[in-house]
Amino acid sequence: MAASMFRRAELLRSVRTSVHSLWLHGSAAPPLPQAKFFPPVEGVMLPTGSFKGRVAFITGGGTGLGRAMTTTLSQLGAQCVIASRKLDVLQKTAEEISSQTGNKVHVVQLDVRDPEAVSRCVDQVESLTGLPDVIINNAAGNFVCPSERLSPNAWKSITDIVLNGTAFVTLELGKRLIQSQRGASFLAITTIYAESGSGFVVPSASAKAGVEALYKSLASEWGRYGHRFNIIQPGPIRTKVIRFDGGEYVSMAGEFNELRRVTPDQWNIIGMMTRSTKGS
Ligand code: NAP
Repeated sequence: MAASMFRRAELLRSVRTSVHSLWLHGSAAPPLPQAKFFPPVEGVMLPTGSFKGRVAFITGGGTGLGRAMTTTLSQLGAQCVIASRKLDVLQKTAEEISSQTGNKVHVVQLDVRDPEAVSRCVDQVESLTGLPDVIINNAAGNFVCPSERLSPNAWKSITDIVLNGTAFVTLELGKRLIQSQRGASFLAITTIYAESGSGFVVPSASAKAGVEALYKSLASEWGRYGHRFNIIQPGPIRTKVIRFDGGEYVSMAGEFNELRRVTPDQWNIIGMMTRSTKGS
């Protein structure tokens, strides 16, 4: 009896630790064994020079995904302009990408939350490169927090960057492009939970859903000016027929899929507990 209670406590502790570690480390956990059979294709699919003669404007282009998109566009021949608050970060990234690709990357300091700063930034872009052909709204902020602990300020800081910032940049550039009778391609980076919503990241989920509504609305309204609007949701990326998500959806969708984290020893204990439970 004592031994069985001890084992049960041990099992609970061990399962709790696994769940805690999964929650804390998420994708940082070691790759699942099947990953080695499906290595990601890391090459660029478009032919060399696809963006030659084009200008791309990328918010938050100094770091992370924005930096990666800038690198690829620059490799494909685009002249890029990256914009965010930290000038030193932007300058370092721009120098590194330019020296790698041989194409100029310009930097403009910008806080997307400030519509007047956005307008001044677009003035600067016009004088550096002319109006862009590609506009990527990638800048964002986010933090994980129980919603009952959110202050109005916390709500505002995320929605100001993600929703208002994207709207200010899109509207300012869109108006000027329309005036100049030029088409352009707008891209917004959202997230998988923009559609489903998600607890603990509610300001981000709400703002990203707003960005998707903004882009869907403008796609129908500004198509007549030659403007295209696309959205990428990092994580599962859906097209008409295919979900490009490296198996993320199916791996998260099954109610019991996370049981693959249970070790053989834990399965032995679960088996013993199941067999010793009355009525099973
Ligand atoms: P990141 O490296 O933290 O990049 C965020 C960028 O936004 C930074 O370069 C930051 O530059 C800029 N930024 C923040 N506030 C700004 C402001 N007020 N004005 C102008 N720029 C501002 O993030 P990331 O992970 O690459 O994310 C890029 C995009 O992917 C975001 O839209 C994010 O929501 C989306 N996404 C990411 C993940 C993920 O797991 N990483 C998942 C889903 C979606 P400064 O600090 O210099 O301003």
